[in-house]
Amino acid sequence: MVFDKEESVSLVPLQSKGKPRVCAGCNRRIMDRFVLEALDRYWHEDCLKCACCDCRLGDVGSTLYTRANLILCHKDYLRLFGMTGNCAACSKVIPAFEMVMRARENVYHLDCFACQLCSQRFCVGDKFFLKNNMILCQLDYEGGHQNGNSADQAL
Ligand SMILES: [Zn+2]
Ligand SMILES: [Zn+2]
Ligand SMILES: [Zn+2]
Ligand SMILES: [Zn+2]
Repeated sequence: MVFDKEESVSLVPLQSKGKPRVCAGCNRRIMDRFVLEALDRYWHEDCLKCACCDCRLGDVGSTLYTRANLILCHKDYLRLFGMTGNCAACSKVIPAFEMVMRARENVYHLDCFACQLCSQRFCVGDKFFLKNNMILCQLDYEGGHQNGNSADQAL
């Protein structure tokens, strides 16, 4: 799995003679004894939080993840960006946040989710069939063979 960007968070002592630090989260001066440094900016301990679950990243460990202007904990990063994988039809990577179709353990681009024999697209309620990891419409499935490992599902 490849992460877009991985940043480690370090708790650094604030130098009393240093310039005043402004928190990148709340834009207020940081008067605390310690300041978090991450993404080349400074943060209150309470302000460096996961954009999804609000957990404090300074506490949780030493690594945070950034993508699409979000700061995320490991768990949420994986949940949002780690699961998409490759389209089972065209084998290309499906970008995060793109709508996908799922059939069993496979994921597909919306555009790729069509009968792989006749290219018919499916509408909600249509039945589709998986045979040898190919998506088939009902006609092609029934016109073909009735054996093999297959499953019918309705959208
Ligand atoms: Zn702050
Ligand atoms: Zn989180
Ligand atoms: Zn595809
Ligand atoms: Zn078909």
